[in-house]
Amino acid sequence: MIIGVPKEIKNHEYRVGLSPAAVREFKSYDHSVLVEENAGAGIGFSNQDYIDAGAEIIGSASEIFAKAEMIIKVKEPQAEECKMLREGQILYTYLHLAPDPQQTQLLVESGASCIAYETVSDNFGALPLLAPMSEVAGRMSIQAGAHYLEKAQGGNGTLLGGVPGVAPGKVLIIGGGVVGTNAAKMAIGLGADVTILDRSLPRLRQLDDIFSGQLRTVFSTADAIEYYASEADLVIGAVLIPGAAAPKLLTKDHIAKMKPGAVVVDVAIDQGGCFETATPTTHQSPVYVVDDVVHYCVANMPGGVARTSTLALNNATLPFGLAIANKGLKQALLDDKHLLNGLNVHQGKITYQAVYDALKNQL
Ligand code: NAD
Repeated sequence: MIIGVPKEIKNHEYRVGLSPAAVREFKSYDHSVLVEENAGAGIGFSNQDYIDAGAEIIGSASEIFAKAEMIIKVKEPQAEECKMLREGQILYTYLHLAPDPQQTQLLVESGASCIAYETVSDNFGALPLLAPMSEVAGRMSIQAGAHYLEKAQGGNGTLLGGVPGVAPGKVLIIGGGVVGTNAAKMAIGLGADVTILDRSLPRLRQLDDIFSGQLRTVFSTADAIEYYASEADLVIGAVLIPGAAAPKLLTKDHIAKMKPGAVVVDVAIDQGGCFETATPTTHQSPVYVVDDVVHYCVANMPGGVARTSTLALNNATLPFGLAIANKGLKQALLDDKHLLNGLNVHQGKITYQAVYDALKNQL
């Protein structure tokens, strides 16, 4: 199969659909890989790295879209990319179609078969192509929080790990899923005093087993949030209610009662945020202050560590991408119900129920 990897064109997006190592995997099965010039340059993957891995470097996205049978990307296609897709072509990338009627309409019109990373499933009821980005965002949340706790960044001047003779900083993590667990790992690694809240008792039991003695697990109630937030130096928002907007768990009042110079990182901001005072920010301007509390609410945190994120994403997308290339799309979908769950648009129709339900009256 001919695989095409265009350079991402969304503002400040440096990730790339295939790393040189992933290109080499496709080449080992005798597929052709076309990579747009400088597609990985922003994260240290040179054209020569891709050539060494067996790719052909192509000067323009239009040539890649014209020649490739499968396009592998990271972000949803922008309008000009959608218009270059054609009938029968495969698009394999994040799509997030439900809130995006314009993109959906263009993909339907293209006739392409579009597989959304975010709806590919696994045997555990999880979303394996979304998990790596939650791992990245969870780990990054503590790094970002520690940075903004510094005095010069507007924080209260607490070092999360403390030092011998000085107590560590207090971290509250609301939501103990993928993001929360990874945040906990980093916070514990730094030596912070960590409390994690979740509504799921089975999850709290698992966390207790994983981190026995290294953190406090607490059932998530309004009371618990109010109490632990008032003591915290850093609060991480990491809840998810699948298919719903994030609940506003940390209210304006809670924020007003926090220590001056405390930091809150709302990772759930991409689902509307779980702090009442949170609004989305960017890597260019990541923070703002409400009631003396520093708010970090970057909606695409993994983009900030684009090199790690690309490698983590490739690890998860590669097996499915290889299956499509090796078997052809139809057979790969017939063989794997989890990959089939990723199919959002096919031959001019929406093929994913939740996207159809969200958009049926808008198209
Ligand atoms: P997850 O499903 O693995 O975990 C969510 C957890 O929240 C679950 O354990 C659930 O029991 C818990 N929860 C639900 N309601 C709760 C409540 N009232 N109190 C406490 N806990 C509650 O999800 P995840 O992969 O960890 O993702 C968390 C959020 O982070 C999602 O909104 C996701 O979209 C977001 N995210 C954001 C970025 C970013 O760049 N900002 C990147 C990746 C993920």
